[in-house]
Amino acid sequence: MNRAVRTAYAQFDVEAKMLLRKARSEGAHIPCGPRCDHCCYDVAWVVDEEADELAERVRSMPAAKREQVVRGCEAWLAGMRGAGLDPDKNRPDLRTYHRAHLACPLLDREAHSCMAYAVRPLACRAHYVNATDPSPCANRANVPVIDTVEFPDSIRRAMATILQTTTRAQTARDMLLPRALGERLGVR
Ligand code: SF4
Ligand code: SF4
Repeated sequence: MNRAVRTAYAQFDVEAKMLLRKARSEGAHIPCGPRCDHCCYDVAWVVDEEADELAERVRSMPAAKREQVVRGCEAWLAGMRGAGLDPDKNRPDLRTYHRAHLACPLLDREAHSCMAYAVRPLACRAHYVNATDPSPCANRANVPVIDTVEFPDSIRRAMATILQTTTRAQTARDMLLPRALGERLGVR
């Protein structure tokens, strides 16, 4: 894994763990946990380095799993076009996107888990909600605004700085995860 990305992930995970523990000890309800995968149908963005990491992880998977991810990228692309959304537009209309209910290609829908959990992007690592249960996430098409846990600016700045110091910082642009991954796996 790219060292700068690995550093950003490790740093973020430490900070996030502390923040969540503190928030929960102060009475916050944060229902996020294993097998809760509704957010994997939401929009997630990546920068180039993160997409590279994900693609590398997919290439190292057994053939059947790899194929599953490729099929997932194809399904996502077809779903976007079917919903009248441009897959190359990084800011899709969220209401339409949520209605289309498009799964991330890395989601194992039977296991309700991420097939690339160790290298999931910061967008996924940072996605926690303030709620008593996951119902706002499960009902995303009808919940236009969701109350997410806010990470302090210091953490956000550290993440951004670390990612921007990677080799291709100048060309980093955020892209929709399934599109960026699909491009790297030959899905057009
Ligand atoms: S963000 Fe929502 S769907 Fe995702 S883990 Fe948390 S509660 Fe579950
Ligand atoms: S990369 Fe993993 S955690 Fe992130 S949206 Fe996709 S399946 Fe979910």
